[in-house]
Amino acid sequence: MSEVRVRFAPSPTGFFHIGSARTALFNWLYAKHTGGKFVLRIEDTDKQRNTQSALNLLLEGMNWLGLDWDEGPKKDGNYGPYFQSQRNSIYHDYLNILKEKNRVYEKEGALWFKLNGERYIEYDSFHKREIEKVKNQPTLINDLIRGPVERIEEKDFIIFRSNGEPVFHFVNVVDDITMQISHVIRGEDHLSNTSKHIELYRAFDAKIPEFAHIPLILKETGPGKMSKRDKGALIENYKERYFSSSALRNYISLLGWNPKDNKEIMPIETIIKKFSFEGINKGNARFDETKLFVMNSKYIKEMSLESLSEFVLPKLKLDGLIIESSNKGYFLNVLKLCKDKINSIENLSSYIDYFFSESFDYDKKGMDKIFKNENICTIIEELIVTLSKISNFESCVIDKELTIYAEKNGCKIFTFFPLIRMAVSGRTGGPDLLPMIEIMGKQRVLKRLKSFCNKLNLDN
Ligand code: GLU
Repeated sequence: MSEVRVRFAPSPTGFFHIGSARTALFNWLYAKHTGGKFVLRIEDTDKQRNTQSALNLLLEGMNWLGLDWDEGPKKDGNYGPYFQSQRNSIYHDYLNILKEKNRVYEKEGALWFKLNGERYIEYDSFHKREIEKVKNQPTLINDLIRGPVERIEEKDFIIFRSNGEPVFHFVNVVDDITMQISHVIRGEDHLSNTSKHIELYRAFDAKIPEFAHIPLILKETGPGKMSKRDKGALIENYKERYFSSSALRNYISLLGWNPKDNKEIMPIETIIKKFSFEGINKGNARFDETKLFVMNSKYIKEMSLESLSEFVLPKLKLDGLIIESSNKGYFLNVLKLCKDKINSIENLSSYIDYFFSESFDYDKKGMDKIFKNENICTIIEELIVTLSKISNFESCVIDKELTIYAEKNGCKIFTFFPLIRMAVSGRTGGPDLLPMIEIMGKQRVLKRLKSFCNKLNLDN
């Protein structure tokens, strides 16, 4: 069997849509699965939209998702250039082949591809004009996902516009021929183009590649394809929001592909191994943000402390929580303590900010509850005395001392937890309290209890 060569052929437009990312991923997976080659070809014939910044965004997105290419921009191979804007001479050579075969004619400045077959005139009542049609046989596309699909081309079509620019169908096919693409894996929206493409392959006497058209991704609710305006549609947003790129890649792999064993969270090696066209659904996939969030949080929890800290540090610095001189050990302890509770890096700073700053607010509702107890300041003062006496400030010792204090007062240790938590963090919830105050350290905890007491005295 000849080598598998697949390609992702985006037209960079200034955003990297989840649907494009999925097409890229499925091509990449198929190449990895078969030991073939993954080509990145830039279809940049639209000079207005296909700017350098649009290209950079796309390449950054691909890199971020770990979708490396064997041939393409910054990675030369034997079939370049990999930018359509640089392949003009190839297109003209191929135009000449068609001309020699008498398959091209000019009409109103444009160059048309002439279908084979007998011509007849039909009246188009919608456009109120006569059109020339060709008696043609239907083309059978043996789509690897959809099965046999029949389509018929009955009208000649333009291959070079009157301004001299080649048209998508033509360059797409010429590139797939010259780059020796064996499998065209692309969105289902291109299925309607495939019969045109097959007519061109035949005209060139070229080997027709296998086709696999992937179902659409529907937006979260209602009918309709996910568009760039829909929430969650752009890859760059996930990057900005510090999603785990492995989680997103895992999630995208399941948009239309079903590994059929109910195991959805998988390392990329497993996805590569299991990936097949048989596993791709015929029906459309639906974007499900909650599922993606859950997957992201599972990936975060699975990270080692080392990789998690490397991952979140830039974000915490950006948010001003951590500065160069911050204590690395303290930061790692905080992260270790909170690791299991973290669902997203996006909100991590607001979840842990009080560990690093004295200027936190006290939760209003939580305060109202605490104020129901009149002896509050006395209790805090006694807690300060109890905690001050502890020289080895570890959670088991703190536990013991607070239990003794609670018993003296005829209550359980947990009675004081909401109060202590409010005093040291301003919150009603967070990581386990005793390990948390152990990490905060005795000085910080006592200081916060004291300033809380002062605040209560001032407020009253
Ligand atoms: N440039 C086309 C697109 O972005 C490529 C279509 C194809 O994969 O053949 O939709």
